[in-house]
Amino acid sequence: MNKKIWLSSPHMGGSEMKYIEEAFAENWIAPMGPNVNGLEEDLQNYLGENVHVAALSSGTAALHLALVLLGIEAGDFVICQSLTFSASANPIIYMGAEPLFVDSEKDTWNLCPTAVEDAVKFGISKGKKPKAIIAVSLYGMPFKVAEITEISQRYGIPIIEDSAEALGSTYKGQKCGTFGDISVLSFNGNKIITTSGGGVLILKNKDVKHRAVFLSTQAKDDAPHYEHTTIGYNYRMSNVSAGIGRGQMEVLEERIRQRRANHEFYREIFNDYPEFGLHSELSSDYFSNYWLSVAYLQPGVDRSTERLRQRFEEEDIETRPIWKPMHLQPVFKGKTYFGNDVAENLFGRGICLPSGSNLSDSDKNRIADVLRKALR
Ligand SMILES: *Cc1c(COP(=O)(O)O)cnc(C)c1O
Repeated sequence: MNKKIWLSSPHMGGSEMKYIEEAFAENWIAPMGPNVNGLEEDLQNYLGENVHVAALSSGTAALHLALVLLGIEAGDFVICQSLTFSASANPIIYMGAEPLFVDSEKDTWNLCPTAVEDAVKFGISKGKKPKAIIAVSLYGMPFKVAEITEISQRYGIPIIEDSAEALGSTYKGQKCGTFGDISVLSFNGNKIITTSGGGVLILKNKDVKHRAVFLSTQAKDDAPHYEHTTIGYNYRMSNVSAGIGRGQMEVLEERIRQRRANHEFYREIFNDYPEFGLHSELSSDYFSNYWLSVAYLQPGVDRSTERLRQRFEEEDIETRPIWKPMHLQPVFKGKTYFGNDVAENLFGRGICLPSGSNLSDSDKNRIADVLRKALR
């Protein structure tokens, strides 16, 4: 029996256990301690100057706290990319706010600037200018940062950058995770590096970071007893998990290289099948970590990728369709949507291919074999 090939599985670097053992040796088995502080420092050093990182229990928790920090209230409009994982949108509902879902453009598959502006104008026409724009860098591909930032600044609406999938990607040489008024990364088990489960908020100043840490640790005021003037959350990262993250940070550059090599591997195969495209960088302004390599049927090709997915499944190889857009999800039925059918078409016509940094040569041979047989 062949072993299962996963879409994107955890890939340890080697020194994770050292940090975990330190946590045990010093009894820092808590949502605080040297690994939490160390991981925050590692990320600050990686991302560059003027960022302040708060380590949390998940990317979803980070997105939720981002909305809390921006003062989103029940009934407020929040613009959100429709083509994404549900975790980008769910926190809007946690707040009692109203999502305005927006289509993708065809180049990066992220927020379409025209549709974003339509959503902003809609909000203003209702007397409620949207309070935030949630911009995703899907599959590691940076969104159109210049265009979206221009709209954000012109209307005075902050960007929440959901770079859960984009650690290591850059736009015009600047790292993803530094473009939002508040930015978010995820270290879930399937991401480019992992803490088993975890995420971070990336903030622009120390005071906001302190506020984020305060809120994520149950909002305890300064008193000998527990005194609360604000609703708190239990969202801080565990010091054990953070130890995994510190080990993973040591191999991040290697992981980016490996994921990009996967993309090259698929490019060589799909070069022979012109009915497919491979989701790729639009220009040298864009540098993707290629968290997942995604192939799609070219416009006009009348087929679906479902049969291909099944062929992989028969060989115990995990692939997945592109994200189903949020405006088509039953749970978001009736929510307002701006744009056309770009996201919807991608959903029916794309397939996410095995993209782990730990794919072996024999895994790649098996994948190539299935692809070439299925596409013949
Ligand atoms: C993974 C992911 C999240 C959520 O992160 P978790 O750490 O799993 O909570 C949010 N947005 C996107 C786009 C993601 O891929």
